[in-house]
Amino acid sequence: MGRLRQLLAAAWRSAADKMAIGLSFACLVHCLLLPVAIALIPAAGGLAGLPEELHLMLFLVAVPISASAIVAGYRRHGAFLPGAIAAIGLALIGTGAIAGLAVLVETSITVLGSVLLVAAHLGNWRSNSRVSLGEAGIIASSQNA
Ligand SMILES: [Zn+2]
Repeated sequence: MGRLRQLLAAAWRSAADKMAIGLSFACLVHCLLLPVAIALIPAAGGLAGLPEELHLMLFLVAVPISASAIVAGYRRHGAFLPGAIAAIGLALIGTGAIAGLAVLVETSITVLGSVLLVAAHLGNWRSNSRVSLGEAGIIASSQNA
């Protein structure tokens, strides 16, 4: 029973980090590639109304997934940095989604927030892996932790 719970917890930690990274990438693609697509294919201009709602949706989905991955990770590896970076990233994405800023400003802070969120979850993931490797006796658990 304990073993199964451990496996499920490990699967969730890994999946939540991946989902948070995937959401961030979805926004990066949307923010960075959509303007290019519209410039190259004028017909894609119909998608131009997408930004605001998409950012709000991404934000609302990203917050619980990111928070649960960060909290689960923190309990496991005790590293403070991934949570701090994720909080800044989410704050930037949230500001972009809610504040009704000029498009260029919104895109800039949303892209920055997404990059920070990706970095935070990669760090979280790596710290988790390090704990797992330590548990498996592959590396010393205190090494570079
Ligand atoms: Zn976007």
